[in-house]
Amino acid sequence: MNRVHWLKSSLFTILMLGIYTFVANAVVFAEEDQDRYDQRMALYKKTAALTQIPWYYLAAIDQYERQILEDTNADPIISIQFPDEAWYGPGNLEKKKDVASIDFFQGIGRDGNGDGLADPDDPEDALYTIATQIMEYGPTEEDIRIGIWNVYKRDLAVHTIKNTAKVFRTFQKIHLTDRDFPVSLQHRYSYRSTWGDGRGFGGLRIHEGTDIFADYGTPVKSTTYGVVELKGWNLYGGWRIGIRDIFNIYHYYAHLSSYDKNIQVGQVVKPGDVLGSVGSSGYGPPGTSGKFPPHLHYGMYKDNGHSEWSFDPYPYLKRWERMAKDKK
Ligand SMILES: [Zn+2]
Repeated sequence: MNRVHWLKSSLFTILMLGIYTFVANAVVFAEEDQDRYDQRMALYKKTAALTQIPWYYLAAIDQYERQILEDTNADPIISIQFPDEAWYGPGNLEKKKDVASIDFFQGIGRDGNGDGLADPDDPEDALYTIATQIMEYGPTEEDIRIGIWNVYKRDLAVHTIKNTAKVFRTFQKIHLTDRDFPVSLQHRYSYRSTWGDGRGFGGLRIHEGTDIFADYGTPVKSTTYGVVELKGWNLYGGWRIGIRDIFNIYHYYAHLSSYDKNIQVGQVVKPGDVLGSVGSSGYGPPGTSGKFPPHLHYGMYKDNGHSEWSFDPYPYLKRWERMAKDKK
């Protein structure tokens, strides 16, 4: 073996080891991820059996709270949080966790695992407590919604939790991380980063989204799991669709030429479901079309539990495009 050859084969070995380590790590991460989802699902189902609140509602409440956690690095098993005063009871200044003390101070904290303590950091206690809070209003779907409203006192919270529960129920799982590119890869399209650009029509508004240029009729697909929240005409957006996903992100598809006949408000969708087709509708009264070249305007809005704001979809589109190409 000459020197150059030796060097080449060593480099090859190092490269292969690197790839192997990378793949092995990815597998370990994926398994840890799955463990986390399995643990959560087991807790939801256990609490559902104890309280008659369906597991998908408990999962949806937990999922909603996970998105509004202030510490984004924390990844507790269960993210549901309670104000100390409500949990321990007003006057329980020492934060005594035994059931008798919490009862005495009229705290809402409950013991979900029978260890005699109501601990807000114990996932079973937190889940059992939120379930008993909601159960007070009754067992029907409508009662549960009223119960959720009384916990959060915010319409968008109830709405998002209801939709997320519908998605979890439909797919019978909570690990829903698949994504798709919103325009069919079988058709010609082009896009670039245009978020924040100024635009002429409608006064001082910045461009809150990415424009994907494609021919009339190109299929437009859902990028995520979610529920159709809105469908209809808007002065700027033309024929448009809004979908809220399980991460409380609102996905906005505008300027369509038509809707898929199966798409209705309230419907559950998954990545790749056809929503309609590319057009140039908008910038006028209903039916206005052709004032600009056909394209899909794609926008993303995040809700943090208090307000909603738009963010740049371009990096996500790039990632989903790569995912969709890899799958082919
Ligand atoms: Zn646009």
